[in-house]
Formats: sequence, structure tokens, C-alpha cells
Amino acid sequence: MGKKIAVLPGDGIGPEITAQAVRVIDALGLGISMAEAPVGGAGYDAAGDPLPAATLALCEASDAILFGAVGGPKYDALPRPMRPEQGLLRLRKHFDLYANLRPAIVYPELAHASSLKAEVVAGLDLLILRELTGDIYFGQPRGVRTNEAGEREGFDTMRYTESEIRRIAKTAFEAARKRSRRVCSVDKANVLETTQFWRDVVIDVHKDFTDIELSHMYVDNAAMQLVRNPKQFDVIVTGNMFGDILSDEASMLTGSIGMLPSASLNAKSFGMYEPIHGSAPDITGKGIANPLATILSAAMLLRYSLGEEAAAGRIEAAVRKVLAQGYRTADITEPGCRQVGTVAMGDAVLAAL
Ligand code: NAD
Repeated sequence: MGKKIAVLPGDGIGPEITAQAVRVIDALGLGISMAEAPVGGAGYDAAGDPLPAATLALCEASDAILFGAVGGPKYDALPRPMRPEQGLLRLRKHFDLYANLRPAIVYPELAHASSLKAEVVAGLDLLILRELTGDIYFGQPRGVRTNEAGEREGFDTMRYTESEIRRIAKTAFEAARKRSRRVCSVDKANVLETTQFWRDVVIDVHKDFTDIELSHMYVDNAAMQLVRNPKQFDVIVTGNMFGDILSDEASMLTGSIGMLPSASLNAKSFGMYEPIHGSAPDITGKGIANPLATILSAAMLLRYSLGEEAAAGRIEAAVRKVLAQGYRTADITEPGCRQVGTVAMGDAVLAAL
């Protein structure tokens, strides 16, 4: 049976950029069917809910989700459960999307966009794998209380179960097999019990992946190494809180928010794929948004959820080609380039395919 993708364009530039990714997937001729449904503010407008029941049903009947972006000033005053980002959070929870994959790639042509020296980042190809459903962000108990000395104190609980660590470690080693076969596990094992346990479990899971090189690094050193020599890394795997911080740091190494895709996967390789940027209300409707992050998210979708490695590689090669040909959207423009809008960038990728 043909594979199905649920396309959730969302708000702002979401519909503009997902439309280009849909054209690219169609052009591959893989017989994949795609159906759209509203989410975020668009879901609220259509059905009074940022994740309408019909949208969730479509996702359940699909093999993967291609997600645009949600949010916008129009929805900022809504009560929290109706806010656009709730659509995203509920999807993550519903499908138990525990593994967040964020590649940080610096195409040689765009190395100048980084705030680091071009030679430090040119050719960077790093994958940050962040655990997304555990850690201090979800651990109980948490709160603010009055302690025995009568002083108020805030507290949270860092917590990871063995099964949670095992599954993210396995995802990391499997992802490394599709890359340069090196995993660096980032922790704070010198100070935190939870992360010493993390390290022990990662070492144990590694016994099934002896073809992969495993190293360990403390998070403070990792934050430093990411700006000192980011090209030393292939796959970085880490917990929710460290991953939150390091993945933003790594994405800014590239300097181009309109270029970066992401994936959130569950244990069955079902996943939600989206650009890391938001709905960009400032440029919505102007036809200038960069669709490449979404097109590259579609490539990840084909690789990780549909097992279409060759097709994923074709999309990535096409993106490299259009950059080499000098095509640039406004966010990555430079003197002497061929500046194009959203649709024309989609056209260029299709031509390069
Ligand atoms: P943003 O990522 O939407 O925009 C930041 C800046 O980057 C803006 O100047 C924007 O024009 C530019 N930009 C972003 N994507 C671009 C693209 N593809 N091409 C060219 N330029 C691009 O972040 P923000 O302005 O902080 O947030 C805007 C809205 O998006 C808010 O409502 C926020 O909550 C939401 N948001 C959603 C997601 C998501 O859906 N996953 C993520 C982040 C923010």
C-alpha cells in the first residue's frame, strides 16, 4: 500500500513553505499520498481547537507528519489551552515523540552567514539528538514550598528511567550508522547522579553497536567545543535540558534559521518533521520565506519514517545544487547571488531534482 503523509501547514509562512515541500515530494514519483489538515491558530479558526480531532485522526492514519509552523500575534491573547503551540505539544505527547533530531549543516556557500569564522564551520555536518519527553522538564515532584527553615524554595526533579535512556541511545547509534558512525554522549556525570546513570546505560546499549565509536563529554565542555571546533562531532546525544540548550547553540553555528530541518520520532519510527523556525509573521504573505528548511525536513521524513534513503539523498543533493548555482532567498542573500522568492526557490529545487 502507498505511504501517506499528513501535511499540517499551520500559521504564518507555514502554508507557503509546506506547499514547496509537497511539490518536491510529489516530483519524486514515489506514489506517496498527502492530505492537509489545520493545526495551531488555523486549527483554532477552523474548529476552535489548536489540534482538531479530525487533524489528529488524519495523523493517526498516516505514516508521518510534515509540519509547517504555528503561532502569530492574532492568537497571543488566547487562553493557554487554545494557544497554537498546544497543537505541537499535544502531537508530541500523543505520539510519544521522544527523539528530537536536529542536524546542523553548514553548506560551504553559506559559511559566511555564521557568526564564527568560515573555516571553523564550512562543511559542518552535525546531528544533535535531544531526548524530548523526560528529564528535569517533566520530573516530579516540582514546585515552590516553604522549607524547614521557613524560607521559600523552588525545586525540580531530574529523573530518567533506564528504558528512556536505552531507547534514545539506540536511536543515536542507529542514526550514526547512516552517517559517520561516531556518537558523543553529553552528560554531567561528574556532578549529577541521573547523568552518571545515563552514561552507564549508554555504555551498556553500545555493546550492541560495536561498529559505532562512542565518546562522552561533560555538557560544559560540549558547549565550549561546539564553538571551538564543531566539526569534531558527528552525532551528539543528550538529555532534554542539555539538548534544549546545545541544539540552539548548534543551530546558530549555521547562521541561517531558514535552512534547518528537524525530526521528532517515536519508537516505531513514526515522526513529525518541521523546520526549526517559527511562523515568521513579519514576512507572511510576502512570498519571500525560505522553503529549504521545510524541504530538508521532507528529506528527513523520507529517510527516517519511510525508509526512502535514496530519495532523501536526492532532495539534499538538489538543495546543495541550487545553493551552488547561486539561488538565495532574502534571509541568506549576498551580493552577486540570484535572489528568488519562496515559489521560485521551490522551482529551482524541482529543476535540480
Ligand atoms: P520565527 O522563527 O518565526 O522568526 C524569527 C526571524 O526569522 C523572523 O525575522 C523571521 O522573518 C525569520 N525567519 C524565520 N523563518 C524564516 C524563513 N523560512 N525564511 C526567512 N526568514 C525566516 O520566530 P519568532 O518571530 O520568535 O516567532 C514567531 C511566531 O512563531 C511566534 O508566534 C512563535 O510562538 C512561533 N514559533 C513557532 C514555532 C513552531 O511552530 N515550531 C517555533 C518557534 C516559534
